[in-house]
Amino acid sequence: MERLKGIGVSSGLAVGSALVAIQRTQVIRFPIAPDRVARELSALERARVRSHEQLQQIRERIAALKGSDLAAIFDAQLLILEDPMLLGRAAALIAEERVNAEWAVQRALDELAAVFDDVQDPYLHERKGDLHDVAGRLRMNMRGEKGGLRDLLQDLDTPCVLVADELTPSVVAQLDWTHIRGFVTDAGSRTYHTAILARSLGVPAVVGLHDVSTRVAPGASILIDGDTGDVLIDPPRALQQEAEAKMRLAKLHLPALVSWEGPTVTRDGVRVLLQANIERSDDVPAALASGAEGIGLYRSEFLLGGGPPDMAAEEEQYHEYRRVVERMAPKPVTIRTFDIDERQLARPILEAALDTRWFPEHERAGHAGLRGIRFGLAHPAIFKTQLRALLRAAAFGSLRIMFPFVSSVQEVRAARVLLAEARAELGARGIATPEVPIGIMIEVPSAAFTASLLAREVDFFTIGTNDLIQYTLAVDRTDERVSDRYEPLHPAVLRLLRQVRRGAVMRGIPVAVCGEMASDPLLLRLLVGCGLTEFSMTPGAIEMARQVIQETSAAEMARIAARVLTLGTVDEIEGFLFEMLGPLGQREKVQT
Ligand code: PEP
Ligand code: MG
Repeated sequence: MERLKGIGVSSGLAVGSALVAIQRTQVIRFPIAPDRVARELSALERARVRSHEQLQQIRERIAALKGSDLAAIFDAQLLILEDPMLLGRAAALIAEERVNAEWAVQRALDELAAVFDDVQDPYLHERKGDLHDVAGRLRMNMRGEKGGLRDLLQDLDTPCVLVADELTPSVVAQLDWTHIRGFVTDAGSRTYHTAILARSLGVPAVVGLHDVSTRVAPGASILIDGDTGDVLIDPPRALQQEAEAKMRLAKLHLPALVSWEGPTVTRDGVRVLLQANIERSDDVPAALASGAEGIGLYRSEFLLGGGPPDMAAEEEQYHEYRRVVERMAPKPVTIRTFDIDERQLARPILEAALDTRWFPEHERAGHAGLRGIRFGLAHPAIFKTQLRALLRAAAFGSLRIMFPFVSSVQEVRAARVLLAEARAELGARGIATPEVPIGIMIEVPSAAFTASLLAREVDFFTIGTNDLIQYTLAVDRTDERVSDRYEPLHPAVLRLLRQVRRGAVMRGIPVAVCGEMASDPLLLRLLVGCGLTEFSMTPGAIEMARQVIQETSAAEMARIAARVLTLGTVDEIEGFLFEMLGPLGQREKVQT
């Protein structure tokens, strides 16, 4: 047995056989039954034939357009395609190691690429890009046949645990979690969107394991604990049975989904608003059952399922938003416009096929690119389609529109111009729309520093601590190598929070906190001490938050927070809070 330790981000135990998915190269690796070998071999052959045809066609087109010099690239690719070191080796791997064809192609590619690396010949180095292109094309053609990861996983009939290098939220949202009992990933942190989604789906998950995807053999048995972050590879049978018994017990003790109504107040009578963060309209019942007083953050980009935003028609979006608003009515719903970046736009098929070769930098573009409101302003047609859908849905309940990733007043003004245009376009279609409160996420330091200026432009603020912390501390929230530096109690973060609240109070607009910080009991109390009284969090955390608030004195926490804001280090702050709040204030150090 081997024991690994990661970050438990979604509670619960899961036991099953490992299903290894390498998402960076989008390959999933699974053991195949002996009678499936022939099927995988013929899938490989069909992909070869199809790839050959495509490359011929591209070659001819490029030759006609740009001449034969450029077309020679594809001659080289055709040669690689027929090279036994690639496809011959892949076929051998399928037969010998009984793995799926896609994975075999990837392995053969890795081996061949290593050979190219060893040779000190610049020409061969150049050819490595072609090698990747050819392998990418083969995999694309195999995938076209079998469907994506989701379809592949539908073939499963035994319980398994998904082991991946990284998992995008859109993949997690689409998987059938009845067969897949949980997941572990190399990448990730607590505020990673995939982790947030796992909690909302109730799927046990451990992330930030660095290299689990290469350490676990497909089919190995694996036990994960989403509370402690423990991952056991090939655990003894007795441990597996114990975990299975605990899982059955946990099912029996699921808390009754009873709607909780009524306001939440602190011990000294300060009213606190608790709302829910949701990612899908299907989350509305859980939000209602948790007693949430509204939806404080609906991450609308999840409805795109990772696909391009220009494919989401106004009508489809309108029905989705209307469904959420109507089901929550009369409670308020804050819908955030797409927080995506340009990488999610559809690219022409040829570009996509050549992706690994021509767009590596672009694919790796950081999280601070053309994202959120910047994306919306750069793509007004997409942005206005969403705004029209939102304005129409607003007629069916209490809707607020929120812009993500705002970093300046100009952006807000520009977004308002597009909003007015969207409204006028609906007017021209004879559709009258109600006034809708407009707010922004405060999640970029420049927005926090200019909160008092931004507050003149909008109706409300929502502080996104997940991003605000990462950008303030220069710690990528998805990079497990720096996760120990992601610290909500950093004096810079606390000072910024105070500044944002002051800006909002000065202009008389409400300010909420919707980042994961609000779902940690100790941090929640400190936020109350900083004068913050509106929170939005995953539905599963609302009951905890209600209890914490009811046991908290806002006046006492204000005194504690005032002292905290004079301290210079995280350790001093943490030590002081533990001393003042005792075991009740204790928290597990927030892992990211
Ligand atoms: C945040 O940044 O705190 C936030 C809630 O937004 P997201 O996690 O979707 O980036
Ligand atoms: Mg954010």
